[in-house]
Amino acid sequence: MVGSETAATRELRSLDPSLGRRFVRLTNRVFVAAGYGVSTFSFVVGDSGVVAVDAGGSPGTSAEAIAELRRHTDLPILGLVYTHGHLDHTHGATAFTDENPAIEIWAIKPFGTEGRFLARNGADIALQRSLRQFGNLLPPQKKINTGVAPSVVSGNTPVNVVPEPRIRPRKRFETDATIRLGGVTLAVSHNPGETDDQVLVWFEQDRVAFCGDNMYRSWPNLYAIRGTQYRDVRGWCEAIDRIRALDPHHLVMGHSLPISGAAEVDEALEVYSRGLWGVYNATIEGINAGKTPDELAHEVRLPDDLADHPLLREYYGNVAWSVRAIFSGVLGWFDGNPATLNPLHPGDRARRIADLAGGADVLFGEAAAALAAGEAQWAAELCDLLLALDSRSDEVRALKADALDELARNMLTTTGRNYLHTYAEELRASSVGERAAAAGR
Ligand SMILES: [Zn+2]
Repeated sequence: MVGSETAATRELRSLDPSLGRRFVRLTNRVFVAAGYGVSTFSFVVGDSGVVAVDAGGSPGTSAEAIAELRRHTDLPILGLVYTHGHLDHTHGATAFTDENPAIEIWAIKPFGTEGRFLARNGADIALQRSLRQFGNLLPPQKKINTGVAPSVVSGNTPVNVVPEPRIRPRKRFETDATIRLGGVTLAVSHNPGETDDQVLVWFEQDRVAFCGDNMYRSWPNLYAIRGTQYRDVRGWCEAIDRIRALDPHHLVMGHSLPISGAAEVDEALEVYSRGLWGVYNATIEGINAGKTPDELAHEVRLPDDLADHPLLREYYGNVAWSVRAIFSGVLGWFDGNPATLNPLHPGDRARRIADLAGGADVLFGEAAAALAAGEAQWAAELCDLLLALDSRSDEVRALKADALDELARNMLTTTGRNYLHTYAEELRASSVGERAAAAGR
């Protein structure tokens, strides 16, 4: 029912207590800062210095984590290694360079490739889509958490800032490196998954694996709806197996709390691997059976025994969108059906369907009835036909906005919820803008 709290909303809210701020002493030498901003970052303490793994997303909260570290050790932070180039893992680094301007910042050579690709193609809309996905522009009552982190508050995740020169990595490696600083030895290796620049950091002494964003407590974001290049899903599956092969006793993920215990970590990695391979293999099988992305997005599911596993709930990523990404990543946009090679223009198609239905007003009545009956997706699709016809635009935009809000409330995937709610607000604002323009004419 419109306005009431849905099961999806309740489930997401129930995660709040686990997403709060914790400074975890993982082993005698490893401290993990979780809930200091949206990402998780760590400190490995040696005999004469500290090496950090990732820097957090905001200098203020990263400085607070460093202050917490200072309750345990006075040793200087000599090094920092980035697991990948996303800003929520790097932008906090000025807190580290403020403390030690000579800090060694390490990263793999193809660092920040995802952002550079969008920039090189002038894909400016990626910023607007990113703001929608993260819900930066939503009022607080329309945001919950992201499932793996507290919700983005203004200034928390700077999605649109250019990294400062001070936090650029100066120690670069091709594929592998051994970092030896202050009595800490870390083995770093290329482990492409969420991004091509993802690395695995291994602290063998305490058997701690730092896996960056290749894993967290949610179905992973195999495709980001803000718009990214294909994230090679087969490669991502292999990346999980590479972590598991190390037999880690502790697993520190790019978001959410770490997992400890050899058996617990192995089980978590087994579940994650099987979930990812299951969806990937089922999609490839469906592709080879000649199915289209639209069909596969509805048909491919997680293996039955994993569907409700807490590590694979669709809080941040979404299985259906992953399936579409695998299809287009492997074969490109053409779904294989020749009728879709040159479909009618959406306006032409809408006109023919309206004629068939008995006119645009009939479609509008059907859309309103569908929303009232709880068929919000159908309502939104009918609204799109009407928008393509430019018919009763103001009312249609308002109806579509209500349908999107209803879809959002029932969606578990937070990126999608945020996107739908934000888009609904944009539709309402565009109607207001058009009325104002008409009044001024
Ligand atoms: Zn991240």
